Amino acid sequence: MNQVAAGVTQLQIQRFVNVYFVESSNPGEWVLVDTGLPGSEKDIIAAADALFYPGTHPTAIILTHGHMDHSGSARALAEHWHVPVLAHPLELPFLQGKAVYPPADPTVDGGGTLAFVSRFFPPQSFQLSDVVQPLATDNDETPFLPGWRWLHVPGHAPGQIALFREEDRTLLGADAFATANHESVPSLLLQLPKISVAGAPFNYNWQQVRDSVQTLAALVPHAIGCGHGPVIQGAEASVDLRQLANHFPMPAHGRYVTDPAVIDVAGVQYLPPAPKDTLPAKAALVGAGVALAAVGIALLSRGGKSNGHKPAKEPKKNSKVYDLAARRARKSGQASCEPASDEYPYKEIRY
Ligand SMILES: [Zn+2]
Ligand SMILES: [Zn+2]
Repeated sequence: MNQVAAGVTQLQIQRFVNVYFVESSNPGEWVLVDTGLPGSEKDIIAAADALFYPGTHPTAIILTHGHMDHSGSARALAEHWHVPVLAHPLELPFLQGKAVYPPADPTVDGGGTLAFVSRFFPPQSFQLSDVVQPLATDNDETPFLPGWRWLHVPGHAPGQIALFREEDRTLLGADAFATANHESVPSLLLQLPKISVAGAPFNYNWQQVRDSVQTLAALVPHAIGCGHGPVIQGAEASVDLRQLANHFPMPAHGRYVTDPAVIDVAGVQYLPPAPKDTLPAKAALVGAGVALAAVGIALLSRGGKSNGHKPAKEPKKNSKVYDLAARRARKSGQASCEPASDEYPYKEIRY
């Protein structure tokens, strides 16, 4: 586990996605932000028990958005802890089995390895109707976390939210951007720090993605934890985020770059035409094998360095916190994280 700021701890799961334990200013209370992929509940519960005390439970679970790598263990955890799950109303259709997210765009310019393999991800729609509740949108106070406000940062997911604590300028940025280069699966798995665009093949409205990055850069955060990538602290964090906002790498082409999907509280209302995907299916499968092999090599190269798969009994603080000043030379990139399809079935997946 890695400390983002006072009372804010990042747990990295399967070297891929992060969840956050956020302590309230009310003594003894805490909130879980995001839940990882399906099957992550044991790791999260063990980490919470180690961080606080055995048998602890949060006041609530807040989902930054409903993508599978953030909401995948929400049901299991909500049922284990008997706590509510909160998400922005615009995410509810996707969490209540009423809609599926817009299909991924594997052809997006600069989408990288994960855009390539996004062709093979299944469509996603969860049925969490009995545990998920809408976040109140008549104010920006984060429920159960005094001193934290939430910001609506759409473009990657329609109801995506980021959380910000003004007092020490701590930002949990969700997938509004990433702190690792999402263009490359190995870079992501190796957790090399780089403030980057997140979720390129899943971004359904690129103008909104850029606006959301600019919104968060204006906060001038001093500590950043995102859905993907390591914790980044120090002045360089806000400098690099400002750099991303000022020089946003808008893709040269892609399905949603100039013709965004339209989504409201009832789900997806408009999709631009599917792009012509010229990659032959056979070649795509071979390529997917190569990509998976690259992932395997990246995993092997890390050996026993994982700090997320089996949480330590004693939480190690700051073992993977980076100051970007030391590692600015890496090329910028783009990202991905969730499933998709060129078709648009409304298919329920119940966990
Ligand atoms: Zn996402
Ligand atoms: Zn994600």
